[in-house]
Amino acid sequence: MNSEQPLNLPLSRSVVDRNAEKRTDDAFIKNAFTTAQVMIIQNGKVGIPNEFAKNIKFFKGAQLGAYESERDYYLGEISGESYFVRHLSPEQKQISSGETTDSISFATLREFGSHLDEREIGLAVQAQGLANWHEKHLRCSICGAATVVKSAGAIRKCELDDSEHYPRTDCAIIVLVKDKDDRILLGRQSVWPQHRFSTFAGFVEPGESFENCVIREVKEEAGVYVSKIKYLGSQPWPFPSSLMVAFEAITDAPENAKPDGIEIEQVRWFNRSQIAAAISDGTLLLPPRISVARAMIDKWYESGGLNPADLKGGEALR
Ligand SMILES: [Zn+2]
Repeated sequence: MNSEQPLNLPLSRSVVDRNAEKRTDDAFIKNAFTTAQVMIIQNGKVGIPNEFAKNIKFFKGAQLGAYESERDYYLGEISGESYFVRHLSPEQKQISSGETTDSISFATLREFGSHLDEREIGLAVQAQGLANWHEKHLRCSICGAATVVKSAGAIRKCELDDSEHYPRTDCAIIVLVKDKDDRILLGRQSVWPQHRFSTFAGFVEPGESFENCVIREVKEEAGVYVSKIKYLGSQPWPFPSSLMVAFEAITDAPENAKPDGIEIEQVRWFNRSQIAAAISDGTLLLPPRISVARAMIDKWYESGGLNPADLKGGEALR
């Protein structure tokens, strides 16, 4: 990775062909399930072989019995092989007639997502986002009736009024604020662990562009006006349903930076030697390597001719 390349975003490395046109082909879906690789998801966690594993546990579809449209969602294909996720309800112990949840362990993507390979990561973020949405959208938002799963998990349908309901993705911007001396501004939320700082972020509001959201969020949280907004990349963040869209932006008046005192309780400017020093003396915890915030900070550090792998130690999972 050098400073001219895109951000290194662990959750954006998907190689899944979603094969969307096959979702409505019931015969294809039923047949594909029998030879498919099937992952398990429950309570926002992904099934793994054991508690120390850093990979997904896959079952052969035939091992799990027939395809069940209410809880088996089609994820797509990789190298001609089909993938599904079986979504267990919160209390369910039985994965199939022959398998129970006692035979596997569960972990969140936040915990092990950065260890997954390219094949697994796309499956995991898609499965996680889908499962989160299904769990919270059991009823029709128009008439309140129970909805059923259609299109192999891609939609839910109300059979009373025929309305279709699609998974939602909530756009959020995240921004690395810089000044003319190439320092970066980080902020601290009062609810975070002590010494944890990160970049600024917020949800895009109805009718708002990404650029205007960047300007508004930074002004609200850190008190400075930014311009020269540049797009850096995006990463799905299915906790529960966000897409993080990353930018950098410059302020001409770094001395005006001040926390809003509500969401943000402290802001600090760092140059590269200050950030390295704060990490080594324990007064700065950076966001985890799986996050967009960390990818932006690492890229900035590297663009100064330094190695971001040296910024170790401080890492907070939230
Ligand atoms: Zn309805």
